[in-house]
Amino acid sequence: MGLLTEGSPLSWEETKALANHVREHGIIQFINLYRRLKDRQGDVLKWGDEVEYILVKFDDEKKTARVCLRASEILESLQEKELKDPDGVKSLWRPEYGAYMIEGTPGKPYGGLLAHFNIVEANMRYRREEAEKLLKSGEELMTLTSFPRLGCPHFTDPVTEPTPGSGASHSLFFPDEAIYPGHPRFKTLTRNIRQRRGEKVAINIPIFKDKNTPSPFVESFVGAGSDGEAGRAALPDHVYMDAMGFGMGCCCLQLTFQACNINEARTLYDQLTPLCPIMLALTAAAPVHRGYLTDVDCRWNVISCSVDCRTREERGEVPLKHNKFRIPKSRYDSIDSYLSPHGEKYNDVPVIYDEAVYQQLRNADIDHLLAQHIAHLFIRDTVSLFSEKVHQDDERDTDHFENIQSTNWQTMRFKPPPPNSSIGWRVEFRPCEVQITEFENAAIVCFVVLMTRVILSYQLNFIIPISKVDENMARAQKRDALRQEHFWFRKDITTCVSPPVATSCCQKSDCDAYEQMTLDQIINGKEGEFPGLIPLINSYLSSMDVDADTHCTIQQYLKLIQRRASGDLQTTATWIRQFVRSHPDYKFDSVVSERINYDLLKQIQGIQCGEIPCPELLGTSLQSKTQENIPAAVEKAEACNGAC
Ligand code: GLU
Ligand code: MG
Repeated sequence: MGLLTEGSPLSWEETKALANHVREHGIIQFINLYRRLKDRQGDVLKWGDEVEYILVKFDDEKKTARVCLRASEILESLQEKELKDPDGVKSLWRPEYGAYMIEGTPGKPYGGLLAHFNIVEANMRYRREEAEKLLKSGEELMTLTSFPRLGCPHFTDPVTEPTPGSGASHSLFFPDEAIYPGHPRFKTLTRNIRQRRGEKVAINIPIFKDKNTPSPFVESFVGAGSDGEAGRAALPDHVYMDAMGFGMGCCCLQLTFQACNINEARTLYDQLTPLCPIMLALTAAAPVHRGYLTDVDCRWNVISCSVDCRTREERGEVPLKHNKFRIPKSRYDSIDSYLSPHGEKYNDVPVIYDEAVYQQLRNADIDHLLAQHIAHLFIRDTVSLFSEKVHQDDERDTDHFENIQSTNWQTMRFKPPPPNSSIGWRVEFRPCEVQITEFENAAIVCFVVLMTRVILSYQLNFIIPISKVDENMARAQKRDALRQEHFWFRKDITTCVSPPVATSCCQKSDCDAYEQMTLDQIINGKEGEFPGLIPLINSYLSSMDVDADTHCTIQQYLKLIQRRASGDLQTTATWIRQFVRSHPDYKFDSVVSERINYDLLKQIQGIQCGEIPCPELLGTSLQSKTQENIPAAVEKAEACNGAC
């Protein structure tokens, strides 16, 4: 979840009073680090994945599955090895928002060799097994994007009760005990986001109208400790949620890339942006929220609303009086502007920023696009500040910059090198939902990494107007978007610079054209019109020297992506929805009962450990080569990492 500063959090009033202080120093810190690092060259491609996990406690007698609030205990043990030997570990563990969540990454980044694809899955499995060793009977570590009954009565183990009107979130449904207790950041963010907004966050997700779902679907919150806020905020025909935990308590799969210099990072940031909604639709895995089947398949909007700290003025509901800007999006959303010269003319949505901040950046010789990007991030106030961090050395420290940067949770993140480190300019790819198995997660990771190779080698151009990316984001989350929706995508993706796949050079205005395509066409190609991302990857691979093992691994992964994109295999969301709707207890009223939840998670658990085959998701012929040989594969990679 980004930066974790140790210390004592300030109250919201104190934090609010220091908002300008953080902004002013954050900008100075960025200017200083930019000046130091803008010419940094020669970093090599390195990349890594981040997987977020949910701990589940099964009770096989009562047939219940609940989130298990032991993450901080488990994390403490998991981090012991790293504390003793930071360079020698194969995995790194970090806290996440939920008291039932942990996040794991490989111990070291992967490098530029294709052979590294052989160990991605093995390392993911290593991580899971490492954490599993610390579990008690009945507990399981699951890569679930959303826990289906999050916020339902007694969804935690041990059982906890929400405290409407008090505590960090004031939620009717989500107890503060379900927020990670081992670090003050998470509760502080929860409280401050609510206080800044001036009311609880309001998440309304359209309900999936099944045969027996009441119409209109209206829940009563009277008597649930509600002071009437829920009644006002909840929309008919929607599932209403009122806490940060409903969003940030969801899990995802992220990737970070180190570029060779700042310009390559800016190119990657831009070129991967149009792929965000595409990857969101492809990885859709979250159809159930607060115990109801919804009409969306993804976590994205839930999180976006769950950290929406904008006031009513900023949201445009009342005229501006105390606030400076009308802000169209939450801090968690799709990006608002491109950063590379290719992208400039596609920034077709006005980017909000403070003119003085922008000028300050421009006066420090920062170009328009980057100045605009940073000034835009800095329209946000800090929502978590620690007393020890208020006064800093702006020449050396970057905490104020990071404070704002790390609470802009967008589809892509552009990351400057940390101070005094060997790490270069990086971009983070953040849209993907996490999948049930390591095989699927590794396939997604490898696909995205290969896309970056193809983009850079062939100098491809995927950029479409930002407004169209926004439209795609909305479409990507809809129920069964993969099969039902069309997405804006660029038709001519060649830039004339590199010959390998260039079909024609753009001379006409036509080379700007984008059109609506199905996900299948985007990924697998459209005869005579669009090459398709997988064929592009294959063309790239055919020009590379790939050993037989690696070739086989990559092809298994590409096959999975290809079959998912074509609709031949289901998305996780479609599969979950189908499981719920065909459960004998399901009453076609959109309700995911305790029993359905239990059976669903048991099934997912079986699939994840390979005990239950799931051809709908994984096919029958697809399987991972590294399955049997975890330690060996990890060893091999270590050796390889060392050698290169
Ligand atoms: N769990 C969040 C998500 O699903 C991401 C939190 C983070 O930035 O690590 O998008
Ligand atoms: Mg995270």
